[in-house]
Amino acid sequence: MRETRSATIARDFNVSPASIASLNKLSDPNKLRIGQILEIPGATPPPTTPQHPLPAALKTSLDKTPVRAGRWKYIVIHHSATDRGSAQGMDHYHRYKRHMENGLAYHFVIGNGKGMPDGQIAVGQRWRSQLNGGHLRSEAQNRVAIGICLVGNYNETTPTPAQMRSLSALTTYLMQRTRINATGVRLHRQINTRPTECPGKKFPAKAFMQTLP
Ligand SMILES: [Zn+2]
Repeated sequence: MRETRSATIARDFNVSPASIASLNKLSDPNKLRIGQILEIPGATPPPTTPQHPLPAALKTSLDKTPVRAGRWKYIVIHHSATDRGSAQGMDHYHRYKRHMENGLAYHFVIGNGKGMPDGQIAVGQRWRSQLNGGHLRSEAQNRVAIGICLVGNYNETTPTPAQMRSLSALTTYLMQRTRINATGVRLHRQINTRPTECPGKKFPAKAFMQTLP
């Protein structure tokens, strides 16, 4: 086995040997194995790799739902404006209190650990059956807008890291499935025909948009 020095690689990439050693947790930066894969500081992953992929089982399950070309034009992000909640609880509320015959107004719900596991993505019947949403004031918009609701009140707190990873993964997946680009990804307040704060003042919109392809 030949020995390679990370100092040589550092020079080639114009970065410091110490930064390579710390990023790759190298005990001895002067000894590298042939074929060892190193991360180079400042290097960005290829753009085709989603930052946060969906769990494989969920992706397999979502892949089974046929999506007609042109069916959807927007992906709209909401918060529940409550500290806790679940897809089941919201379904009950929308079905029996708001009298929506298709129940849960959103296509997806992402839990925050209170009422539903943190970061868990619940797939609603409106997605499975490709039904219109019930999450916007305008029925014309509901016909073409996928609704994702994060459990939490983001006027008070921020989403959990697990929620943001799941939201990024789900939105990226849906953009690919529906051929919607980043301009079609909207916060509720950016699309609603009546003023709303949804998804809350503390929702990290800019950081979220940066995770999208
Ligand atoms: Zn909303």
